[in-house]
Amino acid sequence: MPTQPLLDITNLTISFGKKKEKKEVIHQISFSVSENEIVGIVGESGSGKSVTSMSIMGLLPKKITSITGEIIVNGKSLLAENDRVLRKLRGNDIAMIFQEPMSALNPSLRCGYQVSEILQHHKKLSASEAKKETLALFEKVKLPRPNEIFRRYPHQISGGQMQRVMIAMAIACKPKLLIADEPTTALDVTVQKEILLLLKEIQKETKMSMLFISHDLGLVSEIADRVIVMYQGSIVEEGTTPSVFKNPKATYTKALLASRP
Ligand code: ADP
Ligand code: MG
Repeated sequence: MPTQPLLDITNLTISFGKKKEKKEVIHQISFSVSENEIVGIVGESGSGKSVTSMSIMGLLPKKITSITGEIIVNGKSLLAENDRVLRKLRGNDIAMIFQEPMSALNPSLRCGYQVSEILQHHKKLSASEAKKETLALFEKVKLPRPNEIFRRYPHQISGGQMQRVMIAMAIACKPKLLIADEPTTALDVTVQKEILLLLKEIQKETKMSMLFISHDLGLVSEIADRVIVMYQGSIVEEGTTPSVFKNPKATYTKALLASRP
């Protein structure tokens, strides 16, 4: 069962652009994710899900972004930290997976090398230790023939396999928080289900906290303990998954539920 918050966001407000052109896209949102908890964020395209997750990762374009509020991860205030501390935090405490695996994978490097490089850099493993650990991670994410995948370039494996390599990369340093932003949207339905199951299984085993983001309410309901509904940059509803499904309060959530196929 969840305990204390690992991620704690308070009054987060995010705008893009300067002065007259300034446009606020996230309006004073607050939520938290406890240890060992899976929280889902659901909302239609453009509602601010990715901007929220990118702000936690510190990946929004600095020059045009203004952020106010608090983002606390594992007791550290992210907006107050400098770049060096943030890089370390991202390497150790938080990891993210995306809809498009090629936004995390390098097309010109072998899959195995990309994961073992992270282990050598962040965990200070030797090349042979890192290779062994990478093969174990490939087994964990259920890649067939890990030795073969290790030597392949991303374009030589399927989309579902790339997604698994990206997951292996993300969990390599045993993050405390995994942010999954539409991780299955680009995949066909069968593979979608497999990846969802894999993420569930990994969470159960590692007990890491997870922020699972999707426009698909059905997917979120299958994995999340708690659901946050976003609409036009605000949180309109929040509650345990069964309560949001059985007894939605916000008009938008009701419409979202009614529009499901
Ligand atoms: P979602 O992930 O829910 O589909 P996003 O978080 O990507 O939505 O986008 C929320 C809003 O922020 C959208 O209106 C989008 O156009 C805007 N936005 C996202 N990134 C930028 C950016 N770099 N500059 C300006 N506006 C942006
Ligand atoms: Mg998005």
